[in-house]
Amino acid sequence: MDLSHLSLAQAADLLRKRSLSAVELTRFFLERIATDNAALNAYITVDEAGALQAAQAADDRLARGEATPLTGIPLAIKDLFCTQGLRTTCASRMLANFHPPYESTVTRRLKEAGAVVLGKTNMDEFAMGSSNETSFFGPARNPWGHDRIPGGSSGGSAAAVAAGLCLAALGTDTGGSIRQPAAMTGITGLKPTYGRVSRFGMIAFASSLDQAGPMTRSVEDAALLLQTMAGHDPLDSTSIDAPVPAYWDDLTTGVPAAERVKNMRIGIPAEYFADGLAAPVRQAVEQAIATFQDLGAHCQPVSLPCTAYAIPTYYVIAPAEASSNLARYDGVRFGHRCADPLDLRDMYARTRSEGFGAEVKRRIMLGTYVLSSGYYDAYYRKAQKVRRLIADDFRAAFAQVDLLLTPTAPETAFRIGEKNDDPVRMYLSDIFTINVNLAGLPGLSLPCGFDEHPLPIGLQLIGRPLQEATLLAAGHAFQQATDWHQRRPS
Ligand code: GLN
Repeated sequence: MDLSHLSLAQAADLLRKRSLSAVELTRFFLERIATDNAALNAYITVDEAGALQAAQAADDRLARGEATPLTGIPLAIKDLFCTQGLRTTCASRMLANFHPPYESTVTRRLKEAGAVVLGKTNMDEFAMGSSNETSFFGPARNPWGHDRIPGGSSGGSAAAVAAGLCLAALGTDTGGSIRQPAAMTGITGLKPTYGRVSRFGMIAFASSLDQAGPMTRSVEDAALLLQTMAGHDPLDSTSIDAPVPAYWDDLTTGVPAAERVKNMRIGIPAEYFADGLAAPVRQAVEQAIATFQDLGAHCQPVSLPCTAYAIPTYYVIAPAEASSNLARYDGVRFGHRCADPLDLRDMYARTRSEGFGAEVKRRIMLGTYVLSSGYYDAYYRKAQKVRRLIADDFRAAFAQVDLLLTPTAPETAFRIGEKNDDPVRMYLSDIFTINVNLAGLPGLSLPCGFDEHPLPIGLQLIGRPLQEATLLAAGHAFQQATDWHQRRPS
């Protein structure tokens, strides 16, 4: 049997029946990683010993009949979640040898449920990028075409899920980093509402935007991970203290998704179908709209007039927060330190010059500039005001509809190296995802077709705050009616 593309429920079932042990399943993935990771560069660190130990503990727990559906499930973790004792690099030279003394809340919850961590996945340095090319450890590659980017910043997680080098993975999304790579690799990615999932132990990029979420092969799998990851955490002051629905139980045993999608009102924002949208993407997304109509949803045009301001607003706010968050990497407390500093100033300067890559430096300079006195009002404060207008656009749209449907990205995966000389072209990759972070809303990317290469195409569903269950129901109904999510790279 090919274990590489089992659904989480199928894997849990095999484990519970003892047709398969967690150690066997883990070994299976470790062997696949050993043969296939060199070509994809999806993992930065593989934790063979830790994974086998966790798998053994899972088998013991299964034998005692104390398993959860995640017990013994092999996962890949983006390398910006702190994992106690296991190297966590954020794909930066700055943290190339950092072994965190504590565990992120999200990984702790998954481990407590019995999940097995196979290793830490490649990403853009400090999650700054849309292609995985800013990684200190070299680019990850797209399983659908090794000369193509897998998207970013969670490109390693996306590549690992698409290529069957894990059953599911964790990503983070500040401006699209779960959804855009999901679209580029033909998988499912969910960015929850800001505050739904704890940020404790996630290495911070832009704290008012960062959010962790599942990257999986199906909506059903995403629901299972979210159910375990989500919830209030006293260690994160921005985490929301609201009950966590049993997303997965509701999806699999509640009112059928096909019933729930009937009569849902889906808004199609005109601004997301403007010039610059690649023809195959437009076609596939229009086809998906027709599928939702066939399922009984009512699709209607809506307008989000501030859409065009997303990129400039984000590239003030995110670098501003990054410049502050990254001030801690000074060579004093942890991380890289330059050799033989002459004095403190020299140590700061050389440590940061050596430790950070070009894109991270660009963001630190941008952020420092927009926060500096004399420019603060013109840039940072103004961006905050526009952010409010963007959120107001969504609020107005959600007065008319239950969710929004858009393309996830304007085009399919581009070639490695294609956009390296032009940061603005690279930044435009996130034109459809960034507003969702600025407004703090949940967004789900689903595979909905292929272009001529063939490279995968993704559609995005956007929901009201804390309405992940609505997104999951709509996404699940779509996946029951289509088989895009079951296609695999050869
Ligand atoms: N690509 C965007 C950026 O470079 C978003 C990255 C992210 O979501 N972490 O900032």
